[in-house]
Amino acid sequence: MAVKVGSKTLIQLESIKKSYQQPNGQEITILENISLELKAGEIVALLGPSGSGKSTLMRIVAGLIAPTQGKVLYHNRPLVGLNPGVAIVFQSFALYPWLTVLENVELGLKAKGVIAEERRYKALQMIDVIGLDGFENAYPKELSGGMRQRVGFARALAVEPELLCMDEPFSALDVLTAENLRFELLDLWLEKRIPTKSVLIVTHGIEEAVILADRIIVLGRNPGRIRADLSVNLPHYRDRKSPSFQALVDQVYKIITNPELENVEAAAAPNQQTQTRKYPSLPAVRIGSIAGLLELLEDRQGDLYRLGQELQLEVDEILPIVEAAQLMKLVYLREGDISLTEVGQQFVVSGIDERKAIIRDQLLSNLFLIQQITNLLQAKRNQRIPEELILDVLEAHFSPEEAERQLKTAIDWGRYAEIYTYDEPAGEIFLETNLKS
Ligand code: ADP
Ligand code: MG
Repeated sequence: MAVKVGSKTLIQLESIKKSYQQPNGQEITILENISLELKAGEIVALLGPSGSGKSTLMRIVAGLIAPTQGKVLYHNRPLVGLNPGVAIVFQSFALYPWLTVLENVELGLKAKGVIAEERRYKALQMIDVIGLDGFENAYPKELSGGMRQRVGFARALAVEPELLCMDEPFSALDVLTAENLRFELLDLWLEKRIPTKSVLIVTHGIEEAVILADRIIVLGRNPGRIRADLSVNLPHYRDRKSPSFQALVDQVYKIITNPELENVEAAAAPNQQTQTRKYPSLPAVRIGSIAGLLELLEDRQGDLYRLGQELQLEVDEILPIVEAAQLMKLVYLREGDISLTEVGQQFVVSGIDERKAIIRDQLLSNLFLIQQITNLLQAKRNQRIPEELILDVLEAHFSPEEAERQLKTAIDWGRYAEIYTYDEPAGEIFLETNLKS
């Protein structure tokens, strides 16, 4: 899909795909068919659950990694190597502990070959703008988290990047510090006190995106792809409690929770050709969390977003639990509204043994990986299999770390349901003798 180029276009991505080769030769796709255009004058939020490829996409824009397929154009020319117009702010601050604030801020300028005198001048100027004056000679360890991230901002902005990229820059800060810094950054941007033409912020916080962005690009998972590209037309400074703000948050919430449905439907359709479909990703959550969610839903139907707010859970925290419950067909999700299925209702009113039996049925009838492990176990005379066998299968579909995580989750769930159990020293899975097949 070709993107139409406007005069203010800074960066264009055309049909980007990013995949990685696994040690066993299999390819896993992280991002697929991403086309987008970043223009001067806008703050763009890249929003999605963890693992949806946000950081990877930002790194591609910054030229830190190259796409496997597709084009990256910077000012309409193919990008080769690092993007000279980009500076990055990282979640982890990424400061050098042995350098002072001033030296850290000067680093980016130094890398650009700016001479010493000018370097100092520009760094001091940005330190002033970012509210760090008086701390020029301090070391990072003497600073609070918020002040450290100010250094991160000053370092990125000192090079006067056309595009400021930020990867979850407020996530490591406490709530108040984050909110304060967010608004200070917005002030600088709105008052045009920073020499930056546009901002790309990676986030998993819906409200953060709606507070800051002129445009929200929603990414979905497995593989990462664009689910929506929304313009935000609310004037700054936005009021979190206003109906228009809430309506937009709701809309985004619905989009984010929708793609996971596809996964669940795919999981129920065993004939799907694609590999990612055959092994729907098991969210790494405990059965206890799922039980907690179901119990909460017993006497309330409704809005997943409100539920998240009530529980003070971020979308990233509640979504995996909801996904797991969906995979087991214990809840039903539609356009952001969640309710218990009949089986889910049964679960809530049952005692512990009955609950185990329900989970056992749901796992064995809906989850391919668990069915497969069970079949392999039943086929073996000693009813034991080495975990490596399952890992080898999983590594054809997931990264090695993700394969480990998938296996661990499958073992946890199967153990809870007393389908099989795990011999840790031997690294073997074996069948519970009481399983009726
Ligand atoms: P996000 O920032 O949205 O959480 P990432 O871009 O960090 O997502 O990662 C997306 C997916 O790509 C994850 O499943 C991650 O494990 C995988 N991934 C990232 N980098 C690599 C790599 N170098 N090799 C293999 N897989 C990777
Ligand atoms: Mg990330």
